[in-house]
Amino acid sequence: MTIPFGSAASRQVIRELQQAGYETVFVGGAVRDRMLGKKPTDIDIATAAAPEQVKRVFKRTIDIGIEHGTVLVLMHGEPIEVTTFRTGTTYSGKRRPDEVNDVPSLHEDLQHRDFTINALAMTVDEEVIDLFDGLQDIEHQIIRSVGDPGERFSEDPLRIFRALRFSSVLNFTIEPATLAAMKQLAPSLRVVAIERIKTELDKLFQGANPCRAFHYSSEIKLPELFPQLFSAFTELDRYAPFIDARHGYAAMLAETSETATDLAKHFKLSNEEKRFLKQCEEAVAVRFTRPFEDWEYFIFSTDVLEVAERIHFVNNQGTPMSSQQIERKKRTLPLRHRKELAFTGTDLLTWSGKQGGKWTSEWIGKIEYAVVQGRIKNDAQAIKEWFIHEITREK
Ligand code: ATP
Ligand code: MG
Repeated sequence: MTIPFGSAASRQVIRELQQAGYETVFVGGAVRDRMLGKKPTDIDIATAAAPEQVKRVFKRTIDIGIEHGTVLVLMHGEPIEVTTFRTGTTYSGKRRPDEVNDVPSLHEDLQHRDFTINALAMTVDEEVIDLFDGLQDIEHQIIRSVGDPGERFSEDPLRIFRALRFSSVLNFTIEPATLAAMKQLAPSLRVVAIERIKTELDKLFQGANPCRAFHYSSEIKLPELFPQLFSAFTELDRYAPFIDARHGYAAMLAETSETATDLAKHFKLSNEEKRFLKQCEEAVAVRFTRPFEDWEYFIFSTDVLEVAERIHFVNNQGTPMSSQQIERKKRTLPLRHRKELAFTGTDLLTWSGKQGGKWTSEWIGKIEYAVVQGRIKNDAQAIKEWFIHEITREK
């Protein structure tokens, strides 16, 4: 038995909207993924009902993106996103009127989607609506604009980057006329908010074949047009595949003269991503001078160490350590966390007879380093003796 498309709640939402007289279908990436035999990441539902009408059909709804015509319907506790059929202007974030008598048709909605493979719709009875030969393009593994590519990329230049993203994620070829228009209009990516580009770039990094996207990027001259953002793209294939998107940014770091802070700024990375990148920067700098020591295994996460190993390996050969080897190494450390140290700051005051101050944290750091590097045992008596000896020697 085949598994029905979408959740029971999503099918219920479609049925209720249909019963109220509004054409409603599954659309976009989820339908594409179904045809590819892949599990869809998210389900999109499109309807002829305007947001106000959707809200009248269901008891529990939340306005999450009325400006894009999107309403969240809570069906049996499950949140289901429903979007009114869109026109061409609504993808780039421009406000669409919430007028009941201004609702475009399904045909118009699909016509304004980016690529034929994403312009498929499916009824609740799983009948595919394929107005632009998307099924054929899926079969031939082709990314092709819906209608005139030049017009479509002018409407929303982000689509240029989305084409690259899909070439990586799906490992599809970009159709020549679509690619030619991408090349011609690539400079217009300048007007696209970096946040939108980053969302696509994150997916591109994690795709099945990011090298394909890097190759297309070079063909459409992104590295020359946007050196701050994409100059590294010409060399990034050496680092692929990427376990996660952050590893992609770390590889970029290795291929530019920019610092982690610069890169984080250009791409508006989150604080967490920025922290990760800064740690990679530090770890790579160490790794290029010598193999890691216990101290580095202690202070850096497995993820950061793995990135640094890989970057070093790509540029210098040798054998990179795997995450399992790194984990194994971490398990042999005398200490995994600072809180496991066999003394406290108060002990230092007692042992030295001195008042607390900045020196205490400095000495905690020194002792921690000595314990991790195996110079002292993590034992209160051993630490006390070492500390008293060292502090007297420093006087
Ligand atoms: P994913 O599997 O990563 O979610 P997706 O194809 O579903 O991929 P989304 O960004 O979730 O991509 O968008 C959902 C659908 O909305 C797309 O399949 C496409 O039909 C349409 N779409 C999204 N962004 C645009 C855009 N900028 N221009 C035209 N259509 C778009
Ligand atoms: Mg999606």
